[in-house]
This record gives sequence, structure tokens and C-alpha cells, in this order.
Amino acid sequence: MPIFAEKYTIMNFKISLLTLLLSFSIITTSCLSVQVSDNTVATIPSEVKKPKNIVLLIGDGMGLSQVSAAIYYKAGKPAFERFSTIGLSKTSSSSQLVTDSAAGATVFSAGVKTYNGAIGVDKDTIAVPTIVEQLSKEGYSTGIVATSSIQHATPAAFYAHVKSRRLYEDITTFAPNSGVNIFIGGGLKFFNQRKDGKDLLAEMKAKGYDVITDQLPKTPSKNNEIILLAEDGMPKMSEGRGDFLPNATKLALEKLSKNEKGFFLMVEGSQIDWGGHDNDADYLIEELLDFDKTIGQVLDFARKDGETLVIVTADHETGGFTLSTDGKDYNKIKPTFSTTGHSGTMVPVFAEGPGASLFNGIYESNEIYHKMRELLAK
Ligand code: MG
Ligand code: ZN
Repeated sequence: MPIFAEKYTIMNFKISLLTLLLSFSIITTSCLSVQVSDNTVATIPSEVKKPKNIVLLIGDGMGLSQVSAAIYYKAGKPAFERFSTIGLSKTSSSSQLVTDSAAGATVFSAGVKTYNGAIGVDKDTIAVPTIVEQLSKEGYSTGIVATSSIQHATPAAFYAHVKSRRLYEDITTFAPNSGVNIFIGGGLKFFNQRKDGKDLLAEMKAKGYDVITDQLPKTPSKNNEIILLAEDGMPKMSEGRGDFLPNATKLALEKLSKNEKGFFLMVEGSQIDWGGHDNDADYLIEELLDFDKTIGQVLDFARKDGETLVIVTADHETGGFTLSTDGKDYNKIKPTFSTTGHSGTMVPVFAEGPGASLFNGIYESNEIYHKMRELLAK
């Protein structure tokens, strides 16, 4: 039996369901080497129009059942239904079959499959350049918006390089020199209530950032901005977060679209994942519908603009969420969960705008980085 376990790698997925079931106990108890190719380079057919801007919206923990919840629980047509291109992303990390959000974001930000917990570093803990760093050097504007703290795994992977996602204070030290033109989210305490006693808000100001901690401004300023509206994560929708995410996204789009060269914006619906971990269907669905509303706004912007590629995807699924029947009653849906952790199911990728056709098909999650990078000209 151990021989079989050794042979099992990610690249060798063509095993029967029966074998998978039989080997389940081995998979969960053995130390497996998971090999995923890192060196994907997207090739773009010449007829594909390239975008000027990319907005990447990440629904943390948003699998297909989560997306389906928008169909059942939204009054009106979900924004998800406005996409013409749909793909599926294989989410395993370099260390585990089931990824976490740190490895799951580093695939998008830097194109490498890495170990669970890694923020902007490869599987040997070496820093890898992120799309945000690359594009800001090339003259693009960049922005990061989240409903978690900006130091939480998903946003952090776009501007920081640390070996563990838990090093929130270390992650924060990357913000002043990140080149990011607008940050919006929570995470104030990691700037001004630090163990090392440093005041990183002062450092942000010294680097030319406007520091805003009271409320979301109506219009963007001419300077770089960091808008931190909570000590740690932003409140839940049920705690009165209101239209923070759609409004923050709108503000970022207004600011970044002033750049003639183009922009890259990452927007995260961070708490879809948290609802999944809590096995709290109401929490999950409220966060999902807020994310859907935000997507709708980005699609409206992109339709008017004509040069913006909008990509919506997830880092992984959370909760083993399903929309099962309520007992034997096929007229009723009862959201259920199979885990308080993540699952290894593929997650959907939605794309709309110039270059969208590249996102058809089934591919490894890190290919999303390579496709985006090829589409935004240097
Ligand atoms: Mg996240
Ligand atoms: Zn999670």
C-alpha cells in the first residue's frame, strides 16, 4: 500500500474513482509529494484582442454551489450570468491536494504553485515577483480592495513576500514600497499597534500616501491612497458593512482608470470563505450576494470602457457547500456543509472583455497569472 501512495501525484490524476476512494485513508495520512508544473506560459492567438486593464475579482472559498446560491437567493438575475466565457480551475497547491488561501492567491499573483501558507514566495520560500509589482514598474496603476484586512492571505500575496501568512506585521512592512496606488480594506492595527512599536502609517505618509481611516471618500485623491476602515477584518454584511465593497471598487476604478497606460485591480470578497468555515449559510450567502453586486458594477464599468478584461474566480471552495434537497422535498433547498475547512473541488472562472476567450477550458490555477501577464503588454 505505501508504494501506491508514493506513486500518487497530482499529475497522475487519471485514477478511477474506486481507487481514489480506496486510497483515501492513505492520501489523508501519508506525506505526499504533490507535483504541479509551474512553468506555464500562455500563448495568445493573434486574433485575440488585448485589454488595457484587468480587474481580477476573487471570491474566497467560492465554489460552484456558492455561485449557484446567487441563482436561488438573489432577487433578479445574478451578475455571474452576464459572462460569456467560463472555465474551471484546478486548485491544488504544491504541498497539498487541498490549497489554503495563501498558496491559492500566490498562484494568481505570481504564477507559481507553492506551499500552503506561502505569501508571494515559491516552494523554497524564495520571493517571486507579483503581477502588481511587475505592472507598477511598467507604468500601470494598481489597486487592492478586500473585505478582510489588507494583510490577510489573499490581498497580501499581491504585494508581500513572507514565508507564513500569519506574519501580519511583517506583511504590513511591504505596503509602503509596494507601488500599489490604492489599498482599501481593514488592517489598521498592524500599522499602528505593532510589537516593534513602529508607526507604519507615518511611513505610508512619508511615501506620499493619503492615509484615510474614518470613511470611504466619495472621490479619489490625486495621491496614492490607503483606506483602512477596520482594525482587522471589515464587519460582516450582517453587522452593517452595507455597500462598502461595491463602493470601494467603484472608487478604485475611478482612480485607476485615469492612467492612460492601463491598470490592474484585485478585488476580494474575502468573507464568502469565512461563512463557509463557520458552516453559516446565511453569512455565506449574504457575502456572496454582496460580491455579485460588486461584479455587476465592474461589468458595467467594463462594458462602457471597452478595454477592460474582467475575471472572476476563487482560490478554492470552502465548506463542501451544497444546495441539497430538504429531506425528500425536491421543492426545497437546504444549504449543507461537509467540512469546516476547504475542499479540493475545481472552481469556476468567469471572464468578459478583451482576451476573455483565453479563460475557456480546464487548467491549473496558476495559469490564470500567465494568461493575465501575457495579455497586458509591457
Ligand atoms: Mg482571502
Ligand atoms: Zn479559508
